[in-house]
Amino acid sequence: MACPSCDLLYDVAGLRDGEKASCSRCGDFLTRMRSDGFIKLQSYAIAGLVSLMIGCAFPFLSFKSSGLESVMTLPQMVIQLYEQGRPDLAFLVAAFIIALPAAVLVLLLVLSTCIIRQRYYAWMVPVTRLVFHMQSWSMVEVFFIGVLVSLVKIGHMATVVIGLSFWGYGAFSVLFIFAIASLDRLQYWNELDRLAGLQHAG
Ligand SMILES: [Zn+2]
Repeated sequence: MACPSCDLLYDVAGLRDGEKASCSRCGDFLTRMRSDGFIKLQSYAIAGLVSLMIGCAFPFLSFKSSGLESVMTLPQMVIQLYEQGRPDLAFLVAAFIIALPAAVLVLLLVLSTCIIRQRYYAWMVPVTRLVFHMQSWSMVEVFFIGVLVSLVKIGHMATVVIGLSFWGYGAFSVLFIFAIASLDRLQYWNELDRLAGLQHAG
């Protein structure tokens, strides 16, 4: 493989389980050999999807100001934005905060399950490319930091009560990052190549 930063070429075939390879010229991370990498990926994807469901199903935040209380779930926030004349923001939140990361986790779950069961299908190659492309477009952690910052600001004007879904979404954003971090591109493509070769031989 070539170093992603400086293109120096390496042979990483001799790595044993748990060993990590870094570039000797620029120090960039190359790959890590992990036999349980796909099991981890699958677990993070399942746990992340469950957390996202919790994150969407229950009240996210409630505000109390001068006797009025408004309770909102995450999907209600999207509808509220739309109704208040911000369809652009509503779309951005729905797409980048909920739909896109959910789709990435669903696809990772499907792909890792196929690999764990040692199955290869021709659609896995384009779907994998799609996932690698989509993952750079989700803004889960940016959103969560944004919420924390606005909470501090709103806290001066109204009483903010954090709902169950706030923690659900928080867990989701951590699990999403873990899932992406456990996805080693080189190991992934190698495994896909190996499964494809097995199928041709069989
Ligand atoms: Zn390098």
